[in-house]
Amino acid sequence: MRLQDKYKELRNTSAALLATNFYNFETLEGVLQAAVQSNSPIILQLTRSSIEYMGLPMAFQMAKTAINYHGVKAWIHLDHGDSYDLAAKCLDAGFDSIMIDASEKPFRDNISTTKKVVALASKYDACVEAELGYVAKLGQSTEKEGFTMPEEASRFVNETGVDALAVAIGTSHGFYKKEPRLDLERLARIREVTNAALVLHGGSGVPHTTLTKAIAAGVCKINLATEIKNIFMKTLKAKLENETEIDLRKVFPIATEAVTILVTEKLNVVNNK
Ligand SMILES: [Zn+2]
Repeated sequence: MRLQDKYKELRNTSAALLATNFYNFETLEGVLQAAVQSNSPIILQLTRSSIEYMGLPMAFQMAKTAINYHGVKAWIHLDHGDSYDLAAKCLDAGFDSIMIDASEKPFRDNISTTKKVVALASKYDACVEAELGYVAKLGQSTEKEGFTMPEEASRFVNETGVDALAVAIGTSHGFYKKEPRLDLERLARIREVTNAALVLHGGSGVPHTTLTKAIAAGVCKINLATEIKNIFMKTLKAKLENETEIDLRKVFPIATEAVTILVTEKLNVVNNK
C-alpha cells in the first residue's frame, strides 16, 4: 500500500503512524524489531545528515533489505528534505515518501518550492510532506512562535497538492525544558479545512496522553528522533563504563534493545492499544 493511501485510511481513525529516524544498523534494527514484535506498520526516516553519514545507497538499501528481511510493513521517508536536488536523489533511489521543508521561506516561496517537488514526486507515485509554520529546529529558539494558521494551511494544501502537512501547534525538536502545551483546537480546525494528513514533528518528550489527544484531533504521523538517539547513547555509555569486552557485537545489543523497548511503547500509543 502506498503511504498516501495509508494516510487516507487513517484519517477517520484514532490511530496514527510512528515515523522513526535511524542512524546506523543498530538503530534501524532496534526500530524494526519493535515493529515486528508489535506487528505494526512504521515509517523509517532519513535526514540529510544521516544520508551523508551512511551514503544514500547504503542507507536506503540497508533499510529496504531490513524491511524485506523482517517482513514488516514500512515506508522509507526523507525527513526535512532541504532542496529539490536532495528530494530528486531520494526519489531516484526509491524512497516511498519525501519531505520538502521550505517552512523557513516566505509563504509564497514555500508554496512554489513544495509545488515543484510534488510535481516531481508524482512521476514516482511517491508521497510528499511539507511544513507550514515554525517548529523550532535543534538550536533554534523555542520562544519564537509561528503556529500554523488554518486558512493558510487550507490554501497551502490546495495550491501545492501535498499529501501530508507538518503543522506548528506547540512542539519543537529536541528535548523540552518544560512540558509542551499543544494547541489542539487549532489542530482540529486545520483538519477541518484540509485533506492532507497532519504530521506532528518533535514527538520526543511529549507525554503519551498528549500524543493520544493530538491523534484524536487529527494527527496521522508522529515523528520520533531525539529519544531514539538519546536512549541508544545513554544505554551504550552506561554499558561501556566498566566494560572490558572489545567484541562490539556483544556490546551494542543492549543499546539496540533499549531502542526496541522505547519504540514499542510509542507504537502502543500511536496504535491506540
Ligand atoms: Zn522534524
